[in-house]
Amino acid sequence: MENLIQLVNRLQQACTALGDHGEESSLPTLWDALPSIAVVGGQSSGKSSVLESVVGKDFLPRGSGIVTRRPLVLQLHRLDGGREYAEFGHLPRKKFTDFAAVRKEIADETDRETGQSKAISTVPIYLSIHSPNVVNLTLIDLPGLTKVAVDGQPESIVQDIENMVRSFIEKPNCIILAISPANQDIATSDAIKISREVNPTGDRTFGVLTKIDLMDKGTDAVEMLEGRAFKLQFPWIGVVNRSQADINKNVDMIAARRREKEYFESTPEYQHLASRMGSEHLGKVLSKHLEAVIKSRIPGLQSLINKTILELETELSRLGKNVATDAGGKLYMIMEICRTFDGIFKEHLDGVRPGGDKVYNVFDNQLPAALKRLQFDKNLSIDNVRKLITQADGYQPHLIAPEQGYRRLIESSVITIKGPAESAVDAVHAILKDLVQKSMSETSELKQYPSLRVEVSKAAVESLERMRDESKRATLQLVDMECSYLTVDFFRKLPQDTEKGGNPSQSIFDRYNDSYLRRIGSNVLAYVNMVCASLRNSIPKSVVYCQVREAKRSLLDHFFTTLGQKEGKQLGKLLDEDPAIAQRRVSLAKRLELYRSAQTEIDTVAWSK
Ligand code: GDP
Ligand code: MG
Repeated sequence: MENLIQLVNRLQQACTALGDHGEESSLPTLWDALPSIAVVGGQSSGKSSVLESVVGKDFLPRGSGIVTRRPLVLQLHRLDGGREYAEFGHLPRKKFTDFAAVRKEIADETDRETGQSKAISTVPIYLSIHSPNVVNLTLIDLPGLTKVAVDGQPESIVQDIENMVRSFIEKPNCIILAISPANQDIATSDAIKISREVNPTGDRTFGVLTKIDLMDKGTDAVEMLEGRAFKLQFPWIGVVNRSQADINKNVDMIAARRREKEYFESTPEYQHLASRMGSEHLGKVLSKHLEAVIKSRIPGLQSLINKTILELETELSRLGKNVATDAGGKLYMIMEICRTFDGIFKEHLDGVRPGGDKVYNVFDNQLPAALKRLQFDKNLSIDNVRKLITQADGYQPHLIAPEQGYRRLIESSVITIKGPAESAVDAVHAILKDLVQKSMSETSELKQYPSLRVEVSKAAVESLERMRDESKRATLQLVDMECSYLTVDFFRKLPQDTEKGGNPSQSIFDRYNDSYLRRIGSNVLAYVNMVCASLRNSIPKSVVYCQVREAKRSLLDHFFTTLGQKEGKQLGKLLDEDPAIAQRRVSLAKRLELYRSAQTEIDTVAWSK
């Protein structure tokens, strides 16, 4: 089980090293999931002394008055051998081997935060002790609870301390050492009062009775220690710490422990309890309890770690890959991103993603509606027909049929189809451009590199414009083609004119009678309608061929050609991501590594249970 605690301590220390204490960091924290042990009690009840003897080291400032003014988070790490040392969170890499210096640093660091007053601060001091002589524990020394503010302290201090203490011990993973001095009435114990408040079931509260040696002559703590005076879920543990006189005389820990042991074994009242009294026993009980707690927490811890890993991975994948360092790698990255974008664009056209149907809507609705609006019959009104026919005849009347007139009438109608044809080209162009922008924003990798995004977007739009120009040329050509050569068969199949166009003996102004002109008009209209129907079919073909199909085939071809000519430096400019993102990626990757190794370790422990 030693391994288990060691693992937890290691995770916790790693989190501390990352500054991952929950508050400052937006990332999920392991800190809160791991158990710790905190001492609570009134001022001078012996909290720091108990903590010290659990640790087996002299290093905490102790004494009368308010000595502990900042929370001290203390992590004990068992070393398999070697020299013991201490390390502070605020002084990483500085190894303290002199524990008197540790005590001084705690006092100095307290003053740095609070000033040399009696003020308190909720900012913890982090201290880790590595030693062959400790059990693996995380302990928290807290300022004592007081009743009144003394000189130099703000009025709020009583409440401030209580709030801070509560904030530590109300965490469900905090094991509470409720310290009560035996020489005071237990009914006045602040420790019991506050721990009962935050942990009514008592399943994480240990009652510790200090100063047993200081009890009034003729009284003893047997009733308390046997749990008859005040029952707790776990048995009370009595301790005898060093007195102020001992401290002044520099009585060392080993001597103090020996004396404590002797005290319980030799005092007749306590002999029967001796095996479950004293600081050493307290240390063992705590470490055993901690093991049990951790064991029960493993599944929760695993799921927390897994969840965190998943979140880190998700964010990392959202941030994208690292930029390659060499030109080849950069080129490859750009090509990959472009291919992704191109793929998304194609999916829009092919109906995997929405938007491609708008193109069909142009052909199915917009184009036919525009063609309908041309109103050929108006162009072929009898007056217009008469005008064009007679104009085409020129100074002499025709002999057989007004051939030129027919041609002019047809051409003047068909040519108007250019308008709707051009609109169809432009409408499809607008749709394609829109889909390019849509695909851009759906290509997450492009978000990462604003310059590349601008360039790709520019290249794609330029390509579309080239395609639009080509499409316009080809599509309008279809209309021109219809104007330049008529379908002779159509006219051959018409019933032949018997009248041959009127009576040549009449004056030139009434060469054509109305019924003849009307027939010309209706013949031409029939022909133009036929041409229009055929263009209605072929314009979409031309547009798709020149724009849609071409966009699918070669949207970024031109860009790729220019890309191939670029050097590493220019390619790098295209991949100029925000440095903050690059940094975030590095720190996420670091965290992910930490959590992954934590996952591996905890999985190993879980399996070996
Ligand atoms: P804290 O304020 O709760 O941290 O208490 P300290 O650990 O600083 O102890 C306050 C004073 O009580 C110090 O002078 C200690 O030497 C003394 N003290 C603590 N525990 C005992 C004990 O069990 N017996 C005796 N005789 N003195 C103790
Ligand atoms: Mg103290």
